[in-house]
Amino acid sequence: MGERIYLDWNATAPLRPEARAAMIAALDQVGNPSSVHNEGRAARRLIEEARERLAALVGAEPRNVVFTSGGTEANTMALTPALETPERKSGFDRLMVSAVEHASVRAGGGFRSHHVEEIPVTTEGLTDLQALERRLAELQQQGARFPLVSIMAANNETGVVQPVEAAAALVHAGGGLLHVDAVQVVGRIPFDINRSGADLVTISAHKLGGPQGVGALIKRSADLHLAEPLLRGGGQERGARAGTENVAGIAGFGAAAAAAGATLAADGERMRSLRDRLEAALANGPTVVFGRDAERLPNTSLFAAPGLRAETALINLDLEGFAVSSGSACSSGKVAASHVLAAMGVPPDLGSGAIRVSIGPATRENEIDLFLKAWMKLLAALSKRQSGLAA
Ligand code: PLP
Repeated sequence: MGERIYLDWNATAPLRPEARAAMIAALDQVGNPSSVHNEGRAARRLIEEARERLAALVGAEPRNVVFTSGGTEANTMALTPALETPERKSGFDRLMVSAVEHASVRAGGGFRSHHVEEIPVTTEGLTDLQALERRLAELQQQGARFPLVSIMAANNETGVVQPVEAAAALVHAGGGLLHVDAVQVVGRIPFDINRSGADLVTISAHKLGGPQGVGALIKRSADLHLAEPLLRGGGQERGARAGTENVAGIAGFGAAAAAAGATLAADGERMRSLRDRLEAALANGPTVVFGRDAERLPNTSLFAAPGLRAETALINLDLEGFAVSSGSACSSGKVAASHVLAAMGVPPDLGSGAIRVSIGPATRENEIDLFLKAWMKLLAALSKRQSGLAA
Protein backbone atom coordinates (compact mmCIF):
# COMPACT_ATOMS: atom_id res chain seq x y z
CA MET A 1 0.00 0.00 0.00
CA GLY A 2 1.32 3.48 -0.83
CA GLU A 3 1.39 6.37 1.60
CA ARG A 4 -1.95 6.88 3.29
CA ILE A 5 -3.49 10.26 4.04
CA TYR A 6 -5.72 10.25 7.10
CA LEU A 7 -8.53 12.80 6.94
CA ASP A 8 -10.99 11.20 9.34
CA TRP A 9 -10.09 12.75 12.71
CA ASN A 10 -13.71 13.15 13.79
CA ALA A 11 -14.12 9.37 13.62
CA THR A 12 -10.97 8.87 15.65
CA ALA A 13 -7.80 10.91 16.03
CA PRO A 14 -4.35 9.31 15.84
CA LEU A 15 -2.88 8.51 19.25
CA ARG A 16 -0.70 11.35 20.52
CA PRO A 17 2.86 10.34 21.43
CA GLU A 18 2.32 11.72 24.94
CA ALA A 19 -0.70 9.45 25.36
CA ARG A 20 1.17 6.40 24.09
CA ALA A 21 4.07 7.03 26.49
CA ALA A 22 1.72 7.51 29.45
CA MET A 23 -0.17 4.33 28.60
CA ILE A 24 2.94 2.22 28.25
CA ALA A 25 4.21 3.47 31.60
CA ALA A 26 0.82 2.79 33.19
CA LEU A 27 0.64 -0.75 31.81
CA ASP A 28 3.71 -1.57 33.86
CA GLN A 29 2.17 -0.19 37.03
CA VAL A 30 0.87 -3.21 38.91
CA GLY A 31 -1.83 -2.55 41.48
CA ASN A 32 -5.56 -2.10 41.71
CA PRO A 33 -6.32 1.59 42.22
CA SER A 34 -8.73 0.65 45.02
CA SER A 35 -6.02 -1.20 46.98
CA VAL A 36 -4.52 0.61 49.92
CA HIS A 37 -0.97 -0.72 49.51
CA ASN A 38 1.83 1.16 47.82
CA GLU A 39 1.18 -0.34 44.37
CA GLY A 40 -2.52 0.42 44.55
CA ARG A 41 -1.82 3.97 45.60
CA ALA A 42 0.54 4.43 42.66
CA ALA A 43 -2.18 3.28 40.24
CA ARG A 44 -4.64 5.62 41.98
CA ARG A 45 -2.23 8.52 41.52
CA LEU A 46 -2.23 7.94 37.75
CA ILE A 47 -6.01 8.19 37.69
CA GLU A 48 -6.12 11.27 39.88
CA GLU A 49 -3.48 13.03 37.79
CA ALA A 50 -5.52 12.32 34.65
CA ARG A 51 -8.67 13.58 36.41
CA GLU A 52 -6.91 16.86 37.18
CA ARG A 53 -5.70 17.23 33.61
CA LEU A 54 -9.16 16.70 32.16
CA ALA A 55 -10.75 19.03 34.67
CA ALA A 56 -8.18 21.70 33.79
CA LEU A 57 -8.96 21.39 30.08
CA VAL A 58 -12.65 22.24 30.63
CA GLY A 59 -12.43 24.42 33.75
CA ALA A 60 -14.14 21.85 35.98
CA GLU A 61 -13.36 20.62 39.48
CA PRO A 62 -11.51 17.29 39.43
CA ARG A 63 -13.99 15.70 41.88
CA ASN A 64 -16.73 16.27 39.29
CA VAL A 65 -15.07 14.12 36.60
CA VAL A 66 -16.43 10.55 36.26
CA PHE A 67 -14.44 8.23 33.99
CA THR A 68 -16.41 5.99 31.65
CA SER A 69 -15.77 3.57 28.78
CA GLY A 70 -16.26 6.37 26.23
CA GLY A 71 -18.59 9.04 24.95
CA THR A 72 -21.42 6.59 24.39
CA GLU A 73 -21.42 5.47 28.01
CA ALA A 74 -21.09 9.03 29.32
CA ASN A 75 -24.09 10.12 27.21
CA THR A 76 -26.15 7.15 28.38
CA MET A 77 -25.16 7.83 31.99
CA ALA A 78 -26.14 11.51 31.74
CA LEU A 79 -29.56 10.90 30.20
CA THR A 80 -31.34 9.53 33.22
CA PRO A 81 -34.55 10.61 34.92
CA ALA A 82 -32.74 9.97 38.24
CA LEU A 83 -30.76 13.20 38.43
CA GLU A 84 -30.92 14.93 41.77
CA THR A 85 -30.07 18.47 42.80
CA PRO A 86 -30.52 20.05 46.24
CA GLU A 87 -33.78 21.64 45.00
CA ARG A 88 -35.25 18.58 43.37
CA LYS A 89 -35.16 14.98 44.35
CA SER A 90 -38.00 13.67 42.29
CA GLY A 91 -36.87 12.73 38.84
CA PHE A 92 -36.87 14.28 35.42
CA ASP A 93 -39.91 13.51 33.35
CA ARG A 94 -38.97 14.71 29.85
CA LEU A 95 -35.90 14.51 27.65
CA MET A 96 -35.47 16.94 24.77
CA VAL A 97 -32.62 16.39 22.31
CA SER A 98 -31.63 18.34 19.24
CA ALA A 99 -32.43 16.64 15.94
CA VAL A 100 -28.74 16.36 15.03
CA GLU A 101 -27.44 14.54 18.12
CA HIS A 102 -25.23 11.48 18.02
CA ALA A 103 -27.06 8.14 18.06
CA SER A 104 -26.07 7.56 21.69
CA VAL A 105 -28.03 10.68 22.70
CA ARG A 106 -30.92 10.02 20.34
CA ALA A 107 -31.30 6.60 21.98
CA GLY A 108 -32.56 8.50 25.05
CA GLY A 109 -30.56 6.80 27.84
CA GLY A 110 -32.84 5.79 30.69
CA PHE A 111 -35.90 7.66 29.39
CA ARG A 112 -38.90 5.84 27.93
CA SER A 113 -39.16 6.58 24.23
CA HIS A 114 -42.47 8.44 24.58
CA HIS A 115 -40.78 10.86 26.99
CA VAL A 116 -38.10 11.79 24.46
CA GLU A 117 -38.71 14.56 21.95
CA GLU A 118 -36.67 16.32 19.29
CA ILE A 119 -35.85 19.99 18.98
CA PRO A 120 -35.58 20.97 15.30
CA VAL A 121 -32.55 22.64 13.74
CA THR A 122 -32.30 25.45 11.18
CA THR A 123 -31.15 24.89 7.60
CA GLU A 124 -27.63 25.78 8.81
CA GLY A 125 -27.83 23.00 11.39
CA LEU A 126 -28.24 25.19 14.47
CA THR A 127 -30.61 24.16 17.23
CA ASP A 128 -33.78 26.21 16.84
CA LEU A 129 -33.77 28.17 20.10
CA GLN A 130 -37.21 29.64 19.51
CA ALA A 131 -38.66 26.14 19.17
CA LEU A 132 -36.83 25.12 22.36
CA GLU A 133 -38.18 28.11 24.27
CA ARG A 134 -41.73 27.50 23.03
CA ARG A 135 -41.64 23.85 23.97
CA LEU A 136 -40.21 24.54 27.43
CA ALA A 137 -43.05 27.02 28.06
CA GLU A 138 -45.64 24.47 26.87
CA LEU A 139 -44.21 21.81 29.13
CA GLN A 140 -44.38 24.14 32.11
CA GLN A 141 -48.02 24.92 31.32
CA GLN A 142 -48.81 21.21 31.00
CA GLY A 143 -47.29 20.54 34.41
CA ALA A 144 -44.35 18.47 33.18
CA ARG A 145 -41.97 19.09 36.03
CA PHE A 146 -38.34 18.79 35.08
CA PRO A 147 -37.07 18.67 31.52
CA LEU A 148 -33.58 17.43 30.78
CA VAL A 149 -32.24 18.86 27.53
CA SER A 150 -29.30 17.51 25.53
CA ILE A 151 -27.58 19.65 22.90
CA MET A 152 -24.17 18.84 21.47
CA ALA A 153 -21.38 21.43 21.54
CA ALA A 154 -20.60 20.83 17.85
CA ASN A 155 -21.90 18.35 15.35
CA ASN A 156 -19.67 15.42 14.37
CA GLU A 157 -20.76 15.50 10.71
CA THR A 158 -21.01 19.18 9.82
CA GLY A 159 -18.84 20.65 12.59
CA VAL A 160 -21.57 23.25 13.23
CA VAL A 161 -21.07 24.78 16.69
CA GLN A 162 -24.29 24.89 18.69
CA PRO A 163 -25.57 27.87 20.72
CA VAL A 164 -24.98 26.10 24.01
CA GLU A 165 -24.79 29.17 26.26
CA ALA A 166 -28.07 30.58 24.98
CA ALA A 167 -29.70 27.14 25.25
CA ALA A 168 -28.46 26.79 28.85
CA ALA A 169 -30.08 30.10 29.80
CA LEU A 170 -33.43 29.02 28.30
CA VAL A 171 -33.30 25.56 29.85
CA HIS A 172 -32.48 26.90 33.30
CA ALA A 173 -35.22 29.53 33.05
CA GLY A 174 -37.60 26.69 32.13
CA GLY A 175 -36.65 24.77 35.26
CA GLY A 176 -34.52 22.17 33.49
CA LEU A 177 -30.96 20.93 33.28
CA LEU A 178 -28.70 20.86 30.23
CA HIS A 179 -26.44 18.03 29.12
CA VAL A 180 -23.86 18.84 26.44
CA ASP A 181 -22.13 16.21 24.31
CA ALA A 182 -18.80 17.98 23.79
CA VAL A 183 -17.04 14.97 22.30
CA GLN A 184 -16.06 16.78 19.08
CA VAL A 185 -15.17 20.06 20.76
CA VAL A 186 -12.98 19.42 23.78
CA GLY A 187 -9.35 19.43 22.72
CA ARG A 188 -10.17 21.20 19.41
CA ILE A 189 -11.50 24.61 20.46
CA PRO A 190 -11.69 26.20 23.92
CA PHE A 191 -14.54 24.87 26.03
CA ASP A 192 -15.22 25.98 29.60
CA ILE A 193 -17.93 24.15 31.49
CA ASN A 194 -18.83 27.19 33.62
CA ARG A 195 -19.02 29.58 30.70
CA SER A 196 -21.08 27.08 28.69
CA GLY A 197 -23.72 26.83 31.42
CA ALA A 198 -23.96 23.06 30.84
CA ASP A 199 -24.80 21.00 33.90
CA LEU A 200 -23.29 17.81 32.50
CA VAL A 201 -20.67 17.42 29.77
CA THR A 202 -19.58 14.32 27.84
CA ILE A 203 -16.07 13.92 26.47
CA SER A 204 -14.23 11.06 24.77
CA ALA A 205 -10.50 10.30 24.73
CA HIS A 206 -10.12 9.06 21.17
CA LYS A 207 -11.32 12.29 19.58
CA LEU A 208 -8.50 14.29 21.15
CA GLY A 209 -5.61 11.89 20.63
CA GLY A 210 -6.17 9.54 23.54
CA PRO A 211 -7.09 5.86 23.31
CA GLN A 212 -10.41 4.41 22.23
CA GLY A 213 -12.70 3.06 24.94
CA VAL A 214 -12.25 5.83 27.53
CA GLY A 215 -14.39 8.89 28.18
CA ALA A 216 -15.77 11.01 30.95
CA LEU A 217 -18.95 12.60 32.19
CA ILE A 218 -18.22 15.90 33.88
CA LYS A 219 -20.56 17.70 36.26
CA ARG A 220 -20.49 21.47 36.62
CA SER A 221 -21.47 21.22 40.28
CA ALA A 222 -20.83 18.57 42.91
CA ASP A 223 -24.44 19.14 44.02
CA LEU A 224 -25.74 17.29 40.97
CA HIS A 225 -26.13 13.63 41.89
CA LEU A 226 -26.61 10.61 39.64
CA ALA A 227 -29.00 8.73 41.88
CA GLU A 228 -29.20 5.51 39.86
CA PRO A 229 -25.79 4.75 38.36
CA LEU A 230 -25.63 2.67 35.19
CA LEU A 231 -23.05 0.31 36.67
CA ARG A 232 -23.32 -0.63 40.32
CA GLY A 233 -20.91 -2.69 42.34
CA GLY A 234 -17.64 -1.76 43.93
CA GLY A 235 -18.35 1.94 44.43
CA GLN A 236 -15.53 3.24 42.24
CA GLU A 237 -15.74 6.81 40.91
CA ARG A 238 -17.47 7.90 44.15
CA GLY A 239 -20.24 5.41 43.45
CA ALA A 240 -21.08 6.92 40.05
CA ARG A 241 -19.50 4.14 37.97
CA ALA A 242 -18.54 0.78 39.41
CA GLY A 243 -15.75 -1.38 38.01
CA THR A 244 -11.97 -1.38 38.27
CA GLU A 245 -10.79 1.62 36.31
CA ASN A 246 -9.01 1.35 32.95
CA VAL A 247 -5.84 2.79 34.44
CA ALA A 248 -3.70 2.81 31.28
CA GLY A 249 -6.52 4.20 29.16
CA ILE A 250 -7.27 6.91 31.70
CA ALA A 251 -3.58 7.84 31.95
CA GLY A 252 -3.46 8.13 28.14
CA PHE A 253 -6.62 10.25 28.20
CA GLY A 254 -5.06 12.63 30.73
CA ALA A 255 -1.83 12.95 28.78
CA ALA A 256 -3.72 13.58 25.54
CA ALA A 257 -5.87 16.23 27.23
CA ALA A 258 -2.81 18.04 28.57
CA ALA A 259 -1.09 17.91 25.18
CA ALA A 260 -4.20 19.13 23.36
CA GLY A 261 -4.68 21.98 25.83
CA ALA A 262 -1.07 23.15 25.49
CA THR A 263 -1.37 23.97 21.78
CA LEU A 264 -5.12 24.50 21.41
CA ALA A 265 -5.10 28.02 19.96
CA ALA A 266 -2.24 27.48 17.48
CA ASP A 267 -3.63 24.11 16.33
CA GLY A 268 -7.04 25.65 15.81
CA GLU A 269 -5.66 28.40 13.61
CA ARG A 270 -3.60 25.98 11.51
CA MET A 271 -6.54 23.63 10.99
CA ARG A 272 -8.84 26.50 10.09
CA SER A 273 -6.47 27.76 7.42
CA LEU A 274 -6.17 24.26 5.90
CA ARG A 275 -9.93 23.75 6.03
CA ASP A 276 -10.46 27.15 4.38
CA ARG A 277 -7.92 26.25 1.69
CA LEU A 278 -9.88 23.07 0.97
CA GLU A 279 -13.23 24.86 0.82
CA ALA A 280 -11.94 27.75 -1.28
CA ALA A 281 -10.88 25.21 -3.93
CA LEU A 282 -14.15 23.29 -3.65
CA ALA A 283 -16.07 26.52 -4.28
CA ASN A 284 -14.68 26.58 -7.84
CA GLY A 285 -16.81 23.57 -8.76
CA PRO A 286 -20.31 22.18 -8.21
CA THR A 287 -19.53 21.02 -4.64
CA VAL A 288 -21.90 22.15 -1.88
CA VAL A 289 -20.49 22.61 1.65
CA PHE A 290 -23.09 21.96 4.38
CA GLY A 291 -23.42 24.47 7.23
CA ARG A 292 -20.93 26.70 5.48
CA ASP A 293 -22.31 29.96 6.83
CA ALA A 294 -22.57 28.78 10.42
CA GLU A 295 -19.78 28.90 13.00
CA ARG A 296 -18.05 25.53 12.66
CA LEU A 297 -15.21 23.54 14.17
CA PRO A 298 -12.00 24.57 12.43
CA ASN A 299 -11.21 21.00 11.35
CA THR A 300 -14.42 19.79 9.71
CA SER A 301 -15.89 20.06 6.23
CA LEU A 302 -18.93 18.12 4.99
CA PHE A 303 -19.72 18.43 1.32
CA ALA A 304 -21.33 16.76 -1.69
CA ALA A 305 -21.36 17.13 -5.45
CA PRO A 306 -24.74 16.58 -7.13
CA GLY A 307 -24.80 13.17 -8.79
CA LEU A 308 -21.71 11.79 -7.01
CA ARG A 309 -22.64 8.92 -4.70
CA ALA A 310 -20.88 8.69 -1.35
CA GLU A 311 -20.06 4.98 -1.82
CA THR A 312 -18.40 5.68 -5.17
CA ALA A 313 -16.43 8.58 -3.74
CA LEU A 314 -15.39 6.71 -0.58
CA ILE A 315 -14.21 3.62 -2.44
CA ASN A 316 -12.30 5.61 -5.05
CA LEU A 317 -10.71 7.87 -2.48
CA ASP A 318 -9.74 4.88 -0.34
CA LEU A 319 -8.09 3.23 -3.35
CA GLU A 320 -6.19 6.45 -3.97
CA GLY A 321 -4.91 6.43 -0.38
CA PHE A 322 -7.36 8.75 1.44
CA ALA A 323 -9.25 7.88 4.61
CA VAL A 324 -12.37 10.06 4.70
CA SER A 325 -15.87 9.39 5.89
CA SER A 326 -19.40 9.65 4.63
CA GLY A 327 -21.29 11.59 7.28
CA SER A 328 -21.12 9.85 10.63
CA ALA A 329 -18.41 7.19 10.86
CA CYS A 330 -19.92 5.72 14.01
CA SER A 331 -22.39 3.90 11.79
CA SER A 332 -19.90 3.29 9.02
CA GLY A 333 -19.86 0.30 6.72
CA LYS A 334 -23.24 1.39 5.42
CA VAL A 335 -23.86 4.67 3.64
CA ALA A 336 -27.35 5.96 4.34
CA ALA A 337 -28.62 9.52 4.14
CA SER A 338 -27.65 11.16 7.41
CA HIS A 339 -30.27 12.22 9.97
CA VAL A 340 -28.23 15.41 10.41
CA LEU A 341 -28.59 16.55 6.81
CA ALA A 342 -32.22 15.40 6.71
CA ALA A 343 -32.91 17.57 9.78
CA MET A 344 -31.29 20.53 7.97
CA GLY A 345 -33.67 20.02 5.07
CA VAL A 346 -31.02 18.82 2.60
CA PRO A 347 -32.68 16.79 -0.20
CA PRO A 348 -31.91 13.04 0.22
CA ASP A 349 -30.28 12.82 -3.23
CA LEU A 350 -27.68 15.40 -2.31
CA GLY A 351 -27.40 14.42 1.37
CA SER A 352 -26.65 10.77 0.70
CA GLY A 353 -23.62 11.87 -1.33
CA ALA A 354 -22.02 13.71 1.58
CA ILE A 355 -18.32 13.22 2.25
CA ARG A 356 -16.68 14.41 5.47
CA VAL A 357 -13.09 15.55 5.61
CA SER A 358 -11.91 16.08 9.17
CA ILE A 359 -8.36 17.06 9.89
CA GLY A 360 -6.05 17.44 12.87
CA PRO A 361 -2.99 19.25 14.12
CA ALA A 362 -0.70 16.90 12.16
CA THR A 363 -2.43 17.39 8.79
CA ARG A 364 -0.17 19.00 6.21
CA GLU A 365 -0.98 21.44 3.42
CA ASN A 366 0.19 19.07 0.69
CA GLU A 367 -2.21 16.41 2.00
CA ILE A 368 -5.10 18.80 1.43
CA ASP A 369 -3.79 19.59 -2.06
CA LEU A 370 -3.48 15.89 -2.91
CA PHE A 371 -7.01 15.31 -1.67
CA LEU A 372 -8.28 18.17 -3.84
CA LYS A 373 -6.59 16.64 -6.86
CA ALA A 374 -8.29 13.30 -6.21
CA TRP A 375 -11.66 15.01 -5.67
CA MET A 376 -11.35 16.95 -8.93
CA LYS A 377 -10.53 13.68 -10.70
CA LEU A 378 -13.73 12.17 -9.32
CA LEU A 379 -15.73 15.18 -10.50
CA ALA A 380 -14.17 14.99 -13.95
CA ALA A 381 -15.10 11.28 -14.21
CA LEU A 382 -18.62 12.10 -13.05
CA SER A 383 -19.07 14.84 -15.59
CA LYS A 384 -17.74 12.53 -18.34
CA ARG A 385 -20.26 9.85 -17.28
CA GLN A 386 -23.06 12.40 -17.16
CA SER A 387 -22.27 13.82 -20.62
CA GLY A 388 -22.02 10.22 -21.94
CA LEU A 389 -25.48 9.53 -20.55
CA ALA A 390 -26.85 12.73 -22.04
CA ALA A 391 -25.43 11.95 -25.48
N1 PLP B 1 -20.85 11.89 20.57
C1 PLP B 1 -20.35 12.33 19.41
C2 PLP B 1 -20.72 13.71 18.93
C3 PLP B 1 -19.51 11.52 18.65
O1 PLP B 1 -19.03 11.99 17.48
C4 PLP B 1 -19.19 10.23 19.12
C5 PLP B 1 -18.36 9.32 18.31
O2 PLP B 1 -18.20 9.48 17.13
C6 PLP B 1 -19.72 9.83 20.35
C7 PLP B 1 -20.54 10.67 21.04
C8 PLP B 1 -19.41 8.48 20.92
O3 PLP B 1 -18.16 8.45 21.55
P1 PLP B 1 -17.40 7.08 21.77
O4 PLP B 1 -16.91 6.63 20.43
O5 PLP B 1 -16.29 7.41 22.72
O6 PLP B 1 -18.38 6.13 22.39
